[in-house]
This record gives sequence, C-alpha cells and structure tokens, in this order.
Amino acid sequence: MRPWISRARRAFPFALSGAAMTMFMASGLPLLLAMRGIGPGAQTFSYWKSEYDSSLEPPAQGYAFIEVNRGFLADTYLVNRAGRLGESLDRWPTGGLRERDSESTRVHHPPHSVITEAPLAEVDDFYSIGTTLTGWPFRAFASESWHRLKNGGASALPEFRCATHLGVVDGRDLLIPHRPLVAGIVADLAFWTSASWAAVAFPLALRRRKREKYGKCVDCGHALDPHAVTRLPRCPECGISLPHDPLGFVRSPEMHFQNAYVWFIFISSLDIMLTWKILDMNGVEVNPVAALIINDWGMQGAVAFKFALVMWVIVMCELLARLRRSAGRFLAIAAIIISALPVVWSLALLTLHTFMPSVFE
Ligand SMILES: [Zn+2]
Repeated sequence: MRPWISRARRAFPFALSGAAMTMFMASGLPLLLAMRGIGPGAQTFSYWKSEYDSSLEPPAQGYAFIEVNRGFLADTYLVNRAGRLGESLDRWPTGGLRERDSESTRVHHPPHSVITEAPLAEVDDFYSIGTTLTGWPFRAFASESWHRLKNGGASALPEFRCATHLGVVDGRDLLIPHRPLVAGIVADLAFWTSASWAAVAFPLALRRRKREKYGKCVDCGHALDPHAVTRLPRCPECGISLPHDPLGFVRSPEMHFQNAYVWFIFISSLDIMLTWKILDMNGVEVNPVAALIINDWGMQGAVAFKFALVMWVIVMCELLARLRRSAGRFLAIAAIIISALPVVWSLALLTLHTFMPSVFE
C-alpha cells in the first residue's frame, strides 16, 4: 500500500470525529442547552446606522439598527428596518454601523453571512430579519428568521429560512441551521480534527516518554534492567528494536545511589555551617585549599565551590556506576566518609569550646 493511503486511513477516524464535533457544536449543543432553557445570549448591544446621532433620544422605530446578541455558542443578529424615515433602499442598516450609547466612533460591519436587507423585489415586505450563526470555535452554520409585515402590522410567526423549526422554548425558537458557512466549517473541521488527534496522541506520547524514562520497552512496557551497562538490542518481550544507548547518557534513568547522595549533600552542608560557625568564633580553617578559597572569594565563594564540588562528585559517581556499578558505589561511600571527617572534627572542637573553654586558653 502506498504510504499516503495508509496515512489517510489512519487520519480518517480523526477527521470523522472532527466532523461530528463540528456538527455537534453547531446544532447539537445549542439545541440541548436551549431545550433546558439555557439561552444563547451573553452580550447584547445595538449597531445603528452611523449617520444617526446616537446622543439623541433613541427613536422607537425610526431608525434602522441591528441588535447583536453575542454568545459563546451562537451569535444572533436581528436586523431591524427603519419604520418611517428614509427612502426604501436606505431603510435597512447596510453599510457602516456605529455602536449605540458608545463614545467610540468606530464603524462596525456585521459578518458577511448576516442578512442585512430584504431582496429588492420585497424590500418593504419585512420589518426585521434575524440571522443566527452557530458553531464553535468558528461559526459554521447559519439560520434565518424573516419577520413579514402584514397589513401594516407585524405577523405573529416569522418565516424560517435555511433552518428546521423544532418548536419554542421560553419564547425562543429552536432551530437546526442549514446554511453552511464554508470558511467556518473548514476552520472548525481543522480545529476538531487536530483536537481529536491530540486527545489520542498526547496520552500515548506521555506513556512512551514515561516508559523510556523508567527503562521500559516503549512498545509493550516490559521492564528492562535499569542498571544494565549495555542495553539489549531488542525487547525480549515483544521483539521491537531498542535504541542503542550503551552508557544511558541520552535518557537518564533513575540515579544509582540516591540515598548516598542525600547523606553526602547533608554532610557537606553541615561542614559549611560548622566552618562558618568556627570562623565566626575566630577559629582557623585547617584545610589549606578551603582556607585559600575563603581568603580569596569570601564565604559565599566557598559555599559555591563546595556545592560545585558536590555536584561534580555525584556526576562522577553516576558515570562510574554506568560502567561499573561497584566502582560508583565505592566512590559515593568514600565521598560521604571523607566529607564526614571535618564535620566530626568541627563538632568536637565546638563541643570542647562550649563546655571546656579552658582547653583553648
Ligand atoms: Zn517490548
């Protein structure tokens, strides 16, 4: 089979899940919420034709405007025709619009998918047109409700276009939108397909990394010897070929002598603290190297030097352990004993100084 065919076959379930999620977010979820009386609305504001002065008292039905209801899952644009004023072509809020009761002079345009005027032949037959755009994260489908003028008055029921009307809950119409918005559908499909892929791929990648880190076969999870000097070329359980990594430098498995390092760091810290205490009491540093460093760099420099040394010894222990475990362990234990000697000496000095000060006189 050609590689692109097998790749497409593997991508197919994710694309299917992406399509299902796109449809669900565009009509399923808004319908479910609407049936429970949870509205689409969050933010409502009006756009007015910009030539009208919004600082004046808003006329009841004199001017054309768009009432915008912007929600998480759906946006509704209710386009209202001017009642009395203006020529018939000017009665719909086309062109630049301005937000009502706002100081901002920004000119707004509703999205292209919103119907902002009735067609020329029946331009005076309707008094408002609602367009609802649904879909998340991008609006993918639209439904329209056209409100017809009847004998100069408003008809009770709107005409629904590009939509299936299911009923009314809490004064809101339940609609399944039909009109596809191509750009939104493409963007939603891309988003939900990659999200579906990530939802599967991310936990798998995490498991792989964890297995790799803890010295297990990435494919079947069979535990390999974490301290083995050379790694097996193949997993003994499933036969997959393992990456060649003789010293274990690339992946760092667990450390070999963690308990020893804790003691080593603890004793080294004690050494620093006790040295500080003794110097504070006008004592003398007996270690010539340490005395030189304290002289030149001060106590801070000595602390930095000490911990750099500790780090270096630990790294050496780990390197040695990967070549020969017993050699690494020997170095770790030797390091603890050697760093413990000055601590014991300092403790003895301090004890003597505290309880038998006559010795030092
Ligand atoms: Zn395996």
